[in-house]
Amino acid sequence: MFKSMFSKLLTGYLIIFVLTVAAFSAAMSFIYQGFVFSEKEKALALGGQEVRRQIVAFKQGEISREELETSMDSVGYVMDSRIYALELNKDSLQQQMQMTEDNLSVSSNLIPDLGKIMEGTKVFRKREYSQDLDSYVVFYGMPWELDGEIKGAILQYSPVEKIRSGILDMYYQIWMLAAAVTVFSVVVIYLFSAKTSKSLRAMEKAAAQLASGEPVADIQAFDSRDEIGRLVTAFNTMKQRLVQIETMRRDFIAGISHELRTPLTSILGFVQGIQDGLVPKSEIPGVLKIIQDETRRMISLTGEILDLVKLESGTSELYLERFRIFEALAFIIGSLHVNEKKPGLTVEMICPEDLIIRADADRFRQIMLNLLSNAIKYTDAPGQVMVEVERLERGAKISVADTGCGIEADELPFVFERFYRTDKSRHSSTGGAGLGLNLAKALVEQHGGAIGIESEAGVGTRIWFTLPDQEDQASDKV
Ligand code: ATP
Ligand code: MG
Repeated sequence: MFKSMFSKLLTGYLIIFVLTVAAFSAAMSFIYQGFVFSEKEKALALGGQEVRRQIVAFKQGEISREELETSMDSVGYVMDSRIYALELNKDSLQQQMQMTEDNLSVSSNLIPDLGKIMEGTKVFRKREYSQDLDSYVVFYGMPWELDGEIKGAILQYSPVEKIRSGILDMYYQIWMLAAAVTVFSVVVIYLFSAKTSKSLRAMEKAAAQLASGEPVADIQAFDSRDEIGRLVTAFNTMKQRLVQIETMRRDFIAGISHELRTPLTSILGFVQGIQDGLVPKSEIPGVLKIIQDETRRMISLTGEILDLVKLESGTSELYLERFRIFEALAFIIGSLHVNEKKPGLTVEMICPEDLIIRADADRFRQIMLNLLSNAIKYTDAPGQVMVEVERLERGAKISVADTGCGIEADELPFVFERFYRTDKSRHSSTGGAGLGLNLAKALVEQHGGAIGIESEAGVGTRIWFTLPDQEDQASDKV
């Protein structure tokens, strides 16, 4: 994986880089060539003007022919050019040109060029072959005048080689620079890809380990802010969540098996006792009552488990309806028959009578039954259970407080966990699977609400939850 990723990165980079450098050097050399030739043209023009001055001086007898030739030689030396000064007669130009061409043995371009020069135009050619010099040359031709009349032409030939070697020199420097940058970039890309692919390989390995159920340590990211770093963080979170889910699944199954095993064992014991005639006839109705209670408990337990599974898988839908909380609570409290079950335990309620809420009424009942049954179960008579409802800006806050045994501070953080029962309740006769609060929490959260608990051992417990008013939806029953 590393190799292929690295080579892909490198190839892509090199292609882009070479194309960029090629385009850059082509543009540079084009600009540079233009610049060099225009500078050359300017220099040759200056040289030509100097020669023109000398020719005029010679014609006016101010300097000798030797002096003229010497000064032309020195201008030619400085300009790195060969200079010819021609005296031409405009009228018989054609013949003279032929002669000139033979004499100078220069290219055939000279005839039209001389024509132009004699018309007063300057001619500049960037590349032309000179037989005389046996090389490519830059050509510059200009007229010279005497008494305001064009008398001839000054021709300069300067070898192109020097200009070309300057351009080649520049190419060389550009490509050397490009090569150095390429080597540097390859090293940088190599180091980066090595770091990046290290994280990717670690994730690949960890994913394979996870799939085979092996424990996996967190992966370290090279830079946690870039995409790979964020992927590594997401991977670590996903891994922790998977491990959590797996642990929860195991605990859940273990919990269910344990919770079902206890009542089934006791039922089996009683049935066997009856079968073997160990239970006196008079006690059989009592035993059957126990069997009935245990069976009911198992049915409610399996019901709770099913609810939890549905809530977790997200397949449980809310059936929203508008209902008056006061009425709903009064009905729920009434159905508990607290007076008969625990004389001396009072259940009171403070609730605004006109408070209407839009929520799933069955779920609300389920939450309340769980909280109330806990309060009743864990409060000995004489005692008091207080249900209080507060109006919120959007929805309601409901709390159930009791004067029961309370929960030790170190156990409080765990009461919402699945199958968690405090030490005290585990050892007491108050049967329960430890699912009630977990289910209540899941149901409250399904409504978008929050749930909390405050408790003091020996004083009492208060559990509250909020129930936000659900917005109008198509699934509304009413
Ligand atoms: P289940 O509700 O599944 O029948 P349960 O009542 O034991 O069993 P939860 O309702 O989840 O389980 O409660 C978890 C634990 O929290 C209880 O076992 C109990 O120890 C403690 N608890 C809950 N409510 C109270 C309360 N009102 N007073 C004291 N302890 C409580
Ligand atoms: Mg309970």
